[in-house]
Amino acid sequence: MTTIRELLNTPVAGDYDLVVAGAGPAGFAAAFTAGRLGARVLLVEQAGAVGGIATSGLMSHWTGDTEGPLYEEILRRSSVPGPEENGAWRQVINAEKLKLLLLEMLSEVKVDVLLYSFAAAPWLEGTQVCGLIVESKSGRRAYRARVVIDATGDGDIAVRAGASFSLGREPDGGMQPVTLMFKIAGVDMERAVFPGAFEDNREIPKGRIQDLGKAALSAPAGHVLLYRSSLPGIVTVNMTNMIGIDGTQPTDLGRGDLACRRQMGPIVDFLRATVPGYEHCFVSSAAALLGVRETRHIRGGYTLSAEDIVEARRFDDWIVTRASFNFDIHNLSGSGLDKDGAQQQFRAKGKYTIPYRCFVPEGVEGLLVAGRCISGTHKAHSSYRVMPICVNMGQGVGTAAVTAGRAGVLPRHVNVAAVQASLAEQGVRL
Ligand SMILES: Cc1cc2nc3c(=O)[nH]c(=O)nc-3n(C[C@H](O)[C@H](O)[C@H](O)COP(=O)(O)OP(=O)(O)OC[C@H]3O[C@@H](n4cnc5c(N)ncnc54)[C@H](O)[C@@H]3O)c2cc1C
Repeated sequence: MTTIRELLNTPVAGDYDLVVAGAGPAGFAAAFTAGRLGARVLLVEQAGAVGGIATSGLMSHWTGDTEGPLYEEILRRSSVPGPEENGAWRQVINAEKLKLLLLEMLSEVKVDVLLYSFAAAPWLEGTQVCGLIVESKSGRRAYRARVVIDATGDGDIAVRAGASFSLGREPDGGMQPVTLMFKIAGVDMERAVFPGAFEDNREIPKGRIQDLGKAALSAPAGHVLLYRSSLPGIVTVNMTNMIGIDGTQPTDLGRGDLACRRQMGPIVDFLRATVPGYEHCFVSSAAALLGVRETRHIRGGYTLSAEDIVEARRFDDWIVTRASFNFDIHNLSGSGLDKDGAQQQFRAKGKYTIPYRCFVPEGVEGLLVAGRCISGTHKAHSSYRVMPICVNMGQGVGTAAVTAGRAGVLPRHVNVAAVQASLAEQGVRL
């Protein structure tokens, strides 16, 4: 590829204790936690809303039995009255309500938020990250920070800073499929069925629902995943599916988006013709962000493994506790579940912890990662990628960033016991 040389004088637009790139569940939680602890924080998000896949990705619900005080606060403040007030209903997401709540929370703790702003590059001095370079309508700006957290989902900033990483599955780099979530309206909620897992192959008048889906829809679509929303007649559909997409390549993202949109019509036709309660359904909205499940795993001082999750390991340097979800690997070469993607067969000895080392990239200073791009294997990632665990990660890493900044040490050298003490004061329990 030919190159051009650019000579840039980039204005320095701000000076913060912490700058966070990406405002998904992990980035939001990191920024909010640090702000609540009294740090000066900037949160930079490319989309027009905070929440990442939880909101702009039109996600159905927070998954699993993970516990954590910030996650609990989000549920308490965002859940809508429903039939199971204290049960799974609390985990259903109303994206518009959540977008407002998360912005209000950030405003309460005085976090500065830049929406429609792309975290373009780390501000580097040698191998030390000392800020973030942001591109927006007003041009290119630099923001100085004691610590930068990369919560972009893909580790964009970590990679540009020189951190090592692997892409997808070991050893072939295969990545989980992408999905464009969408909502349908006009559903008769009294009669509608809600198969919420690949292995839920329930009987409906025309046959078994997953078998019918596979027969009617062209692969890699074909599984039937439907979720109640908090609004009358509206159902969240997790049924588009595209394989072979690298979510770090814009050409692939566009290809994935188009392929998923093309599947929406046939999916609605299938639901109307086959599934009780869906006879008059129609598309009401589709996600603003394509749902990318997996891309880069940034290499840290420890790589979380599937065994760590099954054994419910308690690491001495924990900063995430009480994480709980099964493995969930979607088929990398077709529809449905991967042969290794245990959902119902999943057994663990309890809830798990994640050590601080998974959040500290190798070979770069001044930078932490949070969210689905932390250091872990393909299989471990399929569990910790879910949103409640990403919130717990953000809370842990945001606390570590503040603790390091106050002690005047690099995040790599933070006193983890002090981070844990601060987390305990926030209500985090082992
Ligand atoms: C289709 C699908 C279904 C899922 N279903 C569930 C479910 O039911 N329940 C559940 O709990 N989890 C579910 N997950 C998993 C979960 O949604 C994600 O793994 C989780 O949101 C990851 O959180 P994150 O904060 O790491 O990243 P994200 O939620 O991806 O957020 C990253 C944010 O960073 C922004 N960003 C990225 N790059 C830049 C940049 N360079 N500059 C500025 N901003 C940037 C993005 O716009 C985004 O807002 C699902 C995921 C997918 C894709």
